[in-house]
Amino acid sequence: MIAIIGGGPGGLTLARVLHVHGIEAVVYERDASRDARDQGSMLDLHTDTGQAALRAAGLEQEFLRAARREGQDMRMFDYTGALLLQEDTPDDAPMARPEIDRADLRDLLLRSLPSDAVRWGSSFQHAEGRTLHFADGSTATCDLLVGADGANSRVRSLLTDVQPEFTGSVSFLSAIHDAERTQPALAAMVGRGNFWAFGPELRLAAQRNGNGTITVGVSLQGPPDLELPAADQLLDGWAPEFRQLLAACDEPFVARPQYVLPVGLTWPRRPGVTLLGDAAHLMPPVGEGANHAMLDAAELARAVAAHPGDLEAALDEYEPAMLSRAAATARRSAAAADLLTGPDAGEKVLRFFTREPAD
Ligand SMILES: Cc1cc2nc3c(=O)[nH]c(=O)nc-3n(C[C@H](O)[C@H](O)[C@H](O)COP(=O)(O)OP(=O)(O)OC[C@H]3O[C@@H](n4cnc5c(N)ncnc54)[C@H](O)[C@@H]3O)c2cc1C
Repeated sequence: MIAIIGGGPGGLTLARVLHVHGIEAVVYERDASRDARDQGSMLDLHTDTGQAALRAAGLEQEFLRAARREGQDMRMFDYTGALLLQEDTPDDAPMARPEIDRADLRDLLLRSLPSDAVRWGSSFQHAEGRTLHFADGSTATCDLLVGADGANSRVRSLLTDVQPEFTGSVSFLSAIHDAERTQPALAAMVGRGNFWAFGPELRLAAQRNGNGTITVGVSLQGPPDLELPAADQLLDGWAPEFRQLLAACDEPFVARPQYVLPVGLTWPRRPGVTLLGDAAHLMPPVGEGANHAMLDAAELARAVAAHPGDLEAALDEYEPAMLSRAAATARRSAAAADLLTGPDAGEKVLRFFTREPAD
């Protein structure tokens, strides 16, 4: 039996691709039920990673029906309100990086699994040999334990003592619900996809979700317990529409300090245990994490199917390739995160998107 800890994009994709190959697996998920937690905003899934995994899962067409092509739109402003860049997605543009609501992606994956494939309310605590222990005192046994349990993975401690490190960035996230109706002017300013405004000390971001909500984020440099200053102080000198965007948020801002695992993290192979996704290679949130979690999942399932009855051969094939792929992407993600920080972040990002040579 294959036990998957965590029912995020990675864990559910693994269960689905294994199911396609006729291989049984159980997902143990900490959340009490599928509705226990708001799934948050959007994910952009790329052709060669997240979408490749959905092809392996036999779910590509369903994904393309649920995905939002126009979610690829981008608007960039500076803090005075000057438009730096606007890219609108033509109706016939390729679905290279369409956005999907996290909740829609999760529903799509859950619908594709047998009803008993996910054991909700199962918070993994530790493993003793092949026995898994959960917070409610229950136990289970498995032949292969896969940690798909995200940034603060407990399974990771079976393979390495390395912990995620704080990057110095904190994002504060909130939302405007039913934005088209409640805040039409702000909804028009944000547009159909991604919106950024850059100031000398912070970055404002907003994103249109498929359900009419606009998520709003403020990214600052500081300690992990940084508190969000009052909007007037925070956006002193900014154009009034940006202050209005913050003021229109209808839920409290939640702080998300940004942590990453070291680029190129590896560990000695251990029989019967492996990791995928954020548990293996937590990267800055620049649009690769879910994509790579899902690709890891598809590749692990493919390796298990290719070595019937020999899980260790499957891990020998999967793990080094996953670690090497993750190292390359983590390096690129760190460089992208670097573009987004510093007083000249707006100029750096604009140069990147307009492909002007750097000085
Ligand atoms: C603001 C933000 C925006 C992002 N945007 C993008 C994007 O556009 N594109 C992209 O590719 N990536 C994006 N990412 C990154 C992406 O969210 C993650 O990389 C991705 O969710 C990782 O998937 P995962 O399945 O590895 O882990 P997770 O999604 O973290 O799922 C882990 C699951 O494990 C469960 N769990 C945890 N501990 C236990 C336990 N002990 N027992 C049982 N269950 C447990 C959790 O409840 C959770 O359901 C973004 C991240 C952030 C913070």
